[in-house]
Amino acid sequence: MLESVKVDTHTHSVLSGHAWSTLRENAAAAARRGMEALCLTEHGHSIPGAGPFFLASAQKMLPERIEGIRMFYGVEANIMDFKGGLDIDDKSLFGLEFVIASLHDLCLQPGTPRENTEAYLGSLRHPCVDVIGHMDDRRTPSEFATVIREAGRLGKLIEINNNSLLIRKGGRERVEEVARICAEFGVGVTVASDAHFDEMIGAVGPSLELLDRIGFPDQLVVNRDLATFAEYLAAREARVEEAWAESFAATGSIRLKGRRAPRGGPTA
Ligand SMILES: [Zn+2]
Ligand SMILES: [Zn+2]
Repeated sequence: MLESVKVDTHTHSVLSGHAWSTLRENAAAAARRGMEALCLTEHGHSIPGAGPFFLASAQKMLPERIEGIRMFYGVEANIMDFKGGLDIDDKSLFGLEFVIASLHDLCLQPGTPRENTEAYLGSLRHPCVDVIGHMDDRRTPSEFATVIREAGRLGKLIEINNNSLLIRKGGRERVEEVARICAEFGVGVTVASDAHFDEMIGAVGPSLELLDRIGFPDQLVVNRDLATFAEYLAAREARVEEAWAESFAATGSIRLKGRRAPRGGPTA
């Protein structure tokens, strides 16, 4: 059984508008837990009270390490329609290091399971999207196997969201079902806190216990340590770079010309 994860891939700070700790407090909490890295994934601007639309690109001001913790700057983008459109513009997405795509009923009135499935599939087709966030949420039911199979086919990930075991009612059975399908198909997962307060950072014990109970393979947990997560990031960087080059070639647009590669590469 995994005792812990060393990288938390889904965390929020006060800049999400409904979280209670600063970025430095989050990093300090990770350091106290002996963790290696954090992804900052503030909510996209369509969530009421979230930061401005340019927050994703403003993260370029932030350092590579805080309190000794390696930082990766990403976003939890909102899926805005049943084609999988996101509320973060392409220029910003191509400059980010980790992108979660989530359905939130605050941004899109949930549809039928078929419509929600199409929304997830569409978002997965965006080259910058890495992982589907909390797909177990019963407010946004989808066809789990269809979405998970497609994530696997694209080399992408499914999230085991610890808040689904603590806050989202009725989440446990659905989280377990998602995890069982990921194990069956061999699809990689992130086990993430979705922390909105610093004490929640990396505190994913309930998720790890659930995975242990169903015999989930540790090697599918890509955020178990920084070395494993960096392997995923190297593959995602190749995927994103290729898609960026294609879109630049297709459009000749200078708008995308200035893509910034993630700082120093995933293991810097
Ligand atoms: Zn969310
Ligand atoms: Zn979140």
